[in-house]
Amino acid sequence: AKRRPHGHYQVFEPQMAEEVNRLLQLESDIRAAYQEHHFTFYLQPLIDLHARVLVGAEALIRWEHPTRGLVQPGAFIGFLENSDMINPVGLQLLDDVCQFIRRQKELGRFPAELRVAVNISERQLYDADFVGKCLSVLHKYKLPGSCLEFEITEGAALHNIDEVVDKMRKLQNEGITFALDDFGTGYSSLSYLKRLPVNKIKIDKSFIDDITIDPQDAAMVASIIAIASNMNLLIVAEGVETDAQAQWLSQYEGILIQGYLFDRPLQAQAFAQNYLPESPT
Ligand code: C2E
Ligand code: CA
Ligand code: CA
Ligand code: CA
Repeated sequence: AKRRPHGHYQVFEPQMAEEVNRLLQLESDIRAAYQEHHFTFYLQPLIDLHARVLVGAEALIRWEHPTRGLVQPGAFIGFLENSDMINPVGLQLLDDVCQFIRRQKELGRFPAELRVAVNISERQLYDADFVGKCLSVLHKYKLPGSCLEFEITEGAALHNIDEVVDKMRKLQNEGITFALDDFGTGYSSLSYLKRLPVNKIKIDKSFIDDITIDPQDAAMVASIIAIASNMNLLIVAEGVETDAQAQWLSQYEGILIQGYLFDRPLQAQAFAQNYLPESPT
């Protein structure tokens, strides 16, 4: 017998059952993708706007799906970050990134001053052995922490800031730096900036989009840049797509840019071919 939709029984509505099935399917697909190692990463260059030189790259997860092709994180990252699978998947990705760096180093193509940034989600930071796991990956590939940067968001420190700060300091002692990602989009960006020992902020694309046409956005970005430079933090403008945006940003010293204007995320191999020197300087 069909129940009238009300209260808890709503879950029996056919549409919702479909949604539940879809999520269950996604969960088992993610589990399989992890086991079969179908997750990989692309690399997007980070450029010093004035010097026009490569200063780093961000590793961005991709799902090489056997039937659906390359799946962008928008389709699964929210679900993944809210499931326990983010921990093994995140660690596998870190391992893959370090393996890539190791190989490039052996080819003499990975400059010592270059860092690859890896996105770390909240659940990973709350793993009691997060620091130990990161250090064993570095150890496995005989890499210094100075080849890595971790990108965290404000939300990532919401629940236990002391624990997160403690882990950050331990990793920083090994040479890993931290960037505060999507800066400005959270609820209390300034309070996190005050409490988290970050080295860099990444100004969210939503602020960059209209800097050349919206005076209010321009004023906000100018203020964020002022605060960050007074705190001696590196500054990345995310999602720079036009010459006009780059031009506007170039009125400030030392801005780093990441965006389609310079390049899109590339397969690791293509990134190495296009950006890594044949013999390091
Ligand atoms: P994010 O960390 O803010 O990464 C930047 C996103 O902006 C990337 O999307 C990148 O491809 C895109 N992007 C860069 N430049 C431009 C531009 O000029 N225009 C536009 N429209 N987009 C640009 P992507 O790769 O789809 O990743 C989306 C989000 O998924 C990331 O946002 C991050 O929050 C999450 N993510 C990606 N990889 C990982 C990962 O390995 N672990 C975790 N936990 N999250 C990840
Ligand atoms: Ca990021
Ligand atoms: Ca971001
Ligand atoms: Ca984001």
